[in-house]
Amino acid sequence: HSSSLFAGFDFGTSGARVVVIDKEGEILAERKRQYPRLNGLVRQAENPAAASAWRATLFALLEEIPVEFRARVGSICLDGTSATTMIVDRNTGELLSRPVLYNESCSQSLPFVHQIAPANHTVLTGTSTLCKMVAWWQRAEKEQRKNAILMHQADWLLYLLHGRLGISDYNNALKVGFDPETEEYPDWLRKQEFGDMLPNVIEPGAVVGKVTSAIATTFGLPPSCVVCTGTTDSIAAFLAARATEPGEAVTSLGSTLAVKLISTERVDDARYGVYSHRIQGQWLVGGASNTGGIVLRQYFSDKELDVLSHAINPNKPSVLDYYPLPSTGERFPVADPNLEPRLEPRPPNDVEFLHGLLESIARIEARAYKLLGDLGSTKLRAVFTSGGGSKNHVWERIRQRVLGVPVSASQHREAAYGAALLALQGSGSIQ
Ligand code: ADP
Repeated sequence: HSSSLFAGFDFGTSGARVVVIDKEGEILAERKRQYPRLNGLVRQAENPAAASAWRATLFALLEEIPVEFRARVGSICLDGTSATTMIVDRNTGELLSRPVLYNESCSQSLPFVHQIAPANHTVLTGTSTLCKMVAWWQRAEKEQRKNAILMHQADWLLYLLHGRLGISDYNNALKVGFDPETEEYPDWLRKQEFGDMLPNVIEPGAVVGKVTSAIATTFGLPPSCVVCTGTTDSIAAFLAARATEPGEAVTSLGSTLAVKLISTERVDDARYGVYSHRIQGQWLVGGASNTGGIVLRQYFSDKELDVLSHAINPNKPSVLDYYPLPSTGERFPVADPNLEPRLEPRPPNDVEFLHGLLESIARIEARAYKLLGDLGSTKLRAVFTSGGGSKNHVWERIRQRVLGVPVSASQHREAAYGAALLALQGSGSIQ
């Protein structure tokens, strides 16, 4: 109903955030928390206590939402880091192993996964959910295997709220091999011994059910509050920017450069690490380059970047032709593991040098979108920008000239805001 509010949670790499919005998308409350130190360790990897740290953070954030807003939350959604894998008992919800994080590699599973998956498939990388699940299966006892199901980080945290096991969304399930086009697991996957471990998959932001009565009572949520299927952190960040039409894109200028474009056509190309997520009936085609802010930081502080940028004339092309990389190797838009960083000649004048760096990164961005188009995506029409580089308006004008389409900063950049929009959309489907 009209006075309902919508809560979106983002579980990122080092901490989590909640955003509460109204039905117009206005933010009423926003809170963030670092994960608690785990047994004195900040590193999450290989830490069996990671799951309890996430649970504690979820509950702490819920408590930090002002009581009067909490009492009006009609729908909740949550995103987690992609390919963060948990194995739980399908009857009790008990964890059968520690969570395996998004960036951990289980390359020991690759020979097996190569045997079962088609060439160039998204699962053919050691960090894929499928490799992690296979690694668990291969060392699990027979008894454990029987009742095991796979959950992603977001599925598990949402389960703590709605109490239903074995449900996922097709953004999180992409890296285990779910096919969002047919909306099924392919035969080569389903017929494996571990096929029963695969969760049921529905679209992101669909209502799963109401919060459990224990959760409603403990946190003062309305008993009618629903919990929706989640998504991944990068999709949620994309949704936050509110790009909705084919040809609209979001460039993330963080430590690295990542592009995502709404397309009517699906594009996948493992050579470039390009793949498509399904979202709201369209395709979200994405790729990530190793260039980006991390290279700028090798030369300049954020303060220097700001000051020097203001001395650049963005209308004048720089003749300096760099390929800024932090180390050897690039995947997209140039697939070459041996590509060397090109950062010379360095002019004595830092303004000129930075101009060359910013313009060169803009050219890589343009090449990235051109490649997506060449591979079959909808043509680029407009770019929103997120990440640390999005506050640089001189760079925005350089990029607009090089890209040849309107470029603007996203109004909202937090993944939690995107998750809140999904909660809003989900609640609409039950009205
Ligand atoms: P991460 O991907 O690590 O989350 P952020 O989105 O926080 O990164 O962005 C940090 C990056 O933004 C840094 O690498 C930094 O070089 C870059 N950055 C910060 N300020 C500016 C600026 N004014 N112009 C261009 N880049 C900037």
